[in-house]
Amino acid sequence: MYCKNCGQKLTLRFCENEGLVPYCDTCADYMFPLFPVAVSMVVTNRAQDKILLAKHVEDDDFILFAGYIKKGENAEKTIPREIKEELGMNVVKTKFMSTRFHAKKDLLMLNFIVVVEDTPIKLKTDEIAEARWCTHDQALELIRKNTTAEFFLTNAVKELKKKI
Ligand SMILES: [Zn+2]
Repeated sequence: MYCKNCGQKLTLRFCENEGLVPYCDTCADYMFPLFPVAVSMVVTNRAQDKILLAKHVEDDDFILFAGYIKKGENAEKTIPREIKEELGMNVVKTKFMSTRFHAKKDLLMLNFIVVVEDTPIKLKTDEIAEARWCTHDQALELIRKNTTAEFFLTNAVKELKKKI
């Protein structure tokens, strides 16, 4: 790991209440690791009995819709922006569920249930090959297993049984 300010190789130094933190000797400062934050979205219809799964280009499994939170943006803005960009749909309401650190991509994911208007999908085809409406059970079957997406989906389905 290198300092983002001066390029010096970082060492680990003890920091009170934080444990070992990367430290730059040149800048004489701790360099707390930065990581991106993204929203993960369990997209559902108004009746909340269907879930929309995404299949990316060059991918066999289905996953949830997701998008990076832009610098300066809050998650509440990211959701309608991403849903509009990827699906051409409007968001009716959202419910925050939980967060999980996605170690594989070094990324914090914030999961929401997102209710969308019942309008046709206008898919952004350069990123997503297919978007498929599924019943709760089908979605649980199709989602890529042992993933953060599966964890979020399982919790969301429990919540959707009661409706949000
Ligand atoms: Zn430095």
